[in-house]
Amino acid sequence: MRLFPRLLLNHLAVVAVTASVLLIATELTAQPFIRHHVAQMMDLLGSQGNHMRLDLTSGMRTTLTRALLAALPLGLLVAALTAWVAARRVTASVRHLQAGSQAIASGQYDRRLPEVGEDELTELARSFNTMAGTLARIEQTRAELIGNVAHELRTPVSAVRGYAEAAQDGILPADQALAAIAREVAGMERLTHDLSLVSRVEGGRVELHLTSIPLRDLLTQAQDRFQLAFEDRGVTLQVDFPPAAWAVWADPQRAQQVLANLLGNALKHTPAGGRVWVSADVHGAEATVSVVDTGSGISPEHLDRVFERFYRVDAARTRGEGSGVGLTIARGLARAMHGDLTATSTPGQGSTFRWTVPLSPVAARPPQRS
Ligand code: ADP
Repeated sequence: MRLFPRLLLNHLAVVAVTASVLLIATELTAQPFIRHHVAQMMDLLGSQGNHMRLDLTSGMRTTLTRALLAALPLGLLVAALTAWVAARRVTASVRHLQAGSQAIASGQYDRRLPEVGEDELTELARSFNTMAGTLARIEQTRAELIGNVAHELRTPVSAVRGYAEAAQDGILPADQALAAIAREVAGMERLTHDLSLVSRVEGGRVELHLTSIPLRDLLTQAQDRFQLAFEDRGVTLQVDFPPAAWAVWADPQRAQQVLANLLGNALKHTPAGGRVWVSADVHGAEATVSVVDTGSGISPEHLDRVFERFYRVDAARTRGEGSGVGLTIARGLARAMHGDLTATSTPGQGSTFRWTVPLSPVAARPPQRS
């Protein structure tokens, strides 16, 4: 049944029940009261009062019934009017909600409902608007993601096509063209791998094997992996090894991935003659690994955004050097392992990336370094 007839019926039912209750109550309480007082008067008047008693009793009953019958249509009219006003207000708000949800369902995520007043329907409109805002953001992210992926793939795909055509036309020897194509394909493979990891990290679907790892082992492995690359680029890599007792609770492979991203970025953005310094500290139940470089630094307007998907400070200059998802993945992994990844920087002087990671609950709690 529609809202208006339902509300109207409810109001009318209330009036009918109230009238019936009044009638029954009058019968049960007023009648004995009057009868009692009339009987007392009759005692005073003697036998003459008998006729008067009947008159009084039936007169009272008729008066009460008439009064109730007169009040009933008036009550019904007021009930119908208030039901109509209330139903109009409620149905108008519900219709707005209905129209809004239909608009959203058809893809108009910018649609909002008026939030007037403080009643439950306004709260519903507010929640509805919040939901619409979230959907709009999700839609924007989705559109951006598709745009970014298309953009990232366009360059290597055109390069592959260029090399293939150059080989076909005899401009480039086939073996050189094939080597270049293999390089581009490897880049695309890296990109698809990174993208699938981003989606798993952001969806909280990355599988972790958390275990107790000596922090010193993690830093040693990272140093072994990067030492040659640093030497090749003429950048000094200095690692301050923490005490052997310091152990963190992390996934060894994912922890290496976080460190590799930080060291790779530091190396990429530090010119020859510069220095990258890795150290660790313990505060409370967490260890912090700091990677400090003397590189280009990141200006404040870019600093927060470097953790966003596909964000590159100088996209044109660093084309082909990375897809801008490394830090998104690193922060996602750090958070999945119940830690975090933050950055500070002074443009022109260098950057510091801090990775916090919980200390191992099974290893003896290491003494804190002041
Ligand atoms: P990419 O794959 O492009 O390196 P990241 O997500 O790892 O993507 O980094 C995002 C951007 O942050 C980089 O393009 C770079 O501009 C900036 N960045 C990251 N680390 C550093 C650093 N140590 N020094 C200066 N800029 C950095």
